[in-house]
Amino acid sequence: MTVADESALVLFSGGQDSTVCLAWALERFARVETVGFDYGQRHKVELDCRAQVRARIAEAFPAWAERLGEDHTLDLGVLGALSDTALTRDAEIAMGAEGLPTTFVPGRNLVFLTFAAALAYRRGLRHLVGGMCETDYSGYPDCRDDTIKAMQVALNLGMQRNFVLHTPLMWIDKAATWVLAETLGGEALVDIVVEETHSCYRGDRDRRHAWGYGCGACPACELRARGYAAFVEGRRGEPA
Ligand code: ZN
Repeated sequence: MTVADESALVLFSGGQDSTVCLAWALERFARVETVGFDYGQRHKVELDCRAQVRARIAEAFPAWAERLGEDHTLDLGVLGALSDTALTRDAEIAMGAEGLPTTFVPGRNLVFLTFAAALAYRRGLRHLVGGMCETDYSGYPDCRDDTIKAMQVALNLGMQRNFVLHTPLMWIDKAATWVLAETLGGEALVDIVVEETHSCYRGDRDRRHAWGYGCGACPACELRARGYAAFVEGRRGEPA
């Protein structure tokens, strides 16, 4: 299913979620560009995975390769300078006093969406696709469905455009994200997600597990490992 003459910009970090979002967009839109943000995150290795993920997808899916357009990287170092969190400095990843994890970068997704929309405006792209998810995330308030919907209204008012913000992962859990990868691109896409995408907050690319690379102990690794285990069990027809 392709939406003729419609174009999209995918917020693409090189992680599992945004890679599945990229595949989702390539299945739907005639032209798809990607944008990544460098804000001094500790797991910068994620950004290094982006080119490789795009190359592997283009190689494995010729129909998608025709639709895959330019990649953009925006330097948002100012976010890292402003926020003192476990994602941008060498601090313990834990639960903070306000009930939010210490990895929370205040306003991150609001800033990302604003810059993505400004880029989409300039590039003539109408659909914005992001991997925000309310289901089993760490309670980041800027991942909420209401936040994204409010941003769509604000961006359209503020930029005099008709952007559509898509969050295909909003109501599914990590296991279902693996299932979505399989539905969109079969075993080939699941392999790319395992092998090339990065989720680990600590940026560990040395340890390889069934679900991919990572330290295996940080919240991002735990979430990814648990989701993959449930996905594999579901494949075997056993209860997850
Ligand atoms: Zn980790």
